[in-house]
Amino acid sequence: MKTKNMIGTAVLFFTFLFLFHTTVFAQEAKPKVTEVANNLYMITKLDYSGNVGFLVTEEGVLVVDSGGLPSMGKVIVEKVKEKTGKPIKYLVLTHYHGDHTYGIDGFPEGVTIIGQRNIVKNIKELNAGRSKDYIEKSFPGQIKKWQEKIKELKDKNDPEADKEEEALKRRLQYIKEYKTIKFNVPDVLFDQKKTLKLGGETIELIYPGNAHTRCNCMVYFSRLKSIHMGDLLFHNSFPYVDPKAGSNTRNWIDTLKKAAGMNIETVIPGHGELASKKGLLPLARYLEDLRKQVKAAIKKGLTLEKIKETITFPAYKDFKLPELRVNNIDAVYHELTGK
Ligand SMILES: [Zn+2]
Repeated sequence: MKTKNMIGTAVLFFTFLFLFHTTVFAQEAKPKVTEVANNLYMITKLDYSGNVGFLVTEEGVLVVDSGGLPSMGKVIVEKVKEKTGKPIKYLVLTHYHGDHTYGIDGFPEGVTIIGQRNIVKNIKELNAGRSKDYIEKSFPGQIKKWQEKIKELKDKNDPEADKEEEALKRRLQYIKEYKTIKFNVPDVLFDQKKTLKLGGETIELIYPGNAHTRCNCMVYFSRLKSIHMGDLLFHNSFPYVDPKAGSNTRNWIDTLKKAAGMNIETVIPGHGELASKKGLLPLARYLEDLRKQVKAAIKKGLTLEKIKETITFPAYKDFKLPELRVNNIDAVYHELTGK
């Protein structure tokens, strides 16, 4: 039972994003480009994707994260072209999650892809390693369930049937594209820190240790006083915690607090709206609260099931993605008990 729960947790965000985007957005979302600092942009509202950043310089472009499908990678390349004729030189991956890496195949040849060394293990074992199972088992099983649901709604003449049918079409389209993903790993790997110079800008890639995953990095544009946090920042949102990929909420809290002490003005989060430095702190507070409450419940002798029922976080009622509350409790319980 425990093993089944862990697998459930590990695949949850992937399934969650996939279901969320195909249900809530029956129509394709329209990507939005926002200028974060001089020549530094953020792309939001890309389907199935975390937030993307890109820096335009005289020597070329550096992109942070690839979007969540090859077609989204292509959209990013187009959005860059709308701002500059210079080629994309670097693609930095903030971590292995599909909503940040599955767009790689949409980028042109010759782009140097960079990531923290541990990303290789996570891409190979957790992305590529699970894909056969998704394609052969999870997807066909889910498709069958969705088809049955639509049939049931149609039999009842429920108008929801049309919406569900539209959502199913989008899910099938996603699956079709997912099957083409090659799960490439970066060309250049680094351990603790890597400094890139491009067109007069200095870009520092910083590995803070295990936090959201074992392979997360921050991308610091020092002259522009801006940082892309990847999923180290879910801005005003419940985060996804991923024990299978090496998450560590204790170090995650420290990472957010340290980042809040850096010389920065604007923060690109992995998910959520553009933030100021202050925007790093609600997530740190939440993670501290989460650990404290789960710890206290374990001390009281409550079972994991009971803990999930009891801890509801009313103080964070405005946080987005409340669906991730249970994942958070599950992950921290695992972290604190080793079970
Ligand atoms: Zn992530």
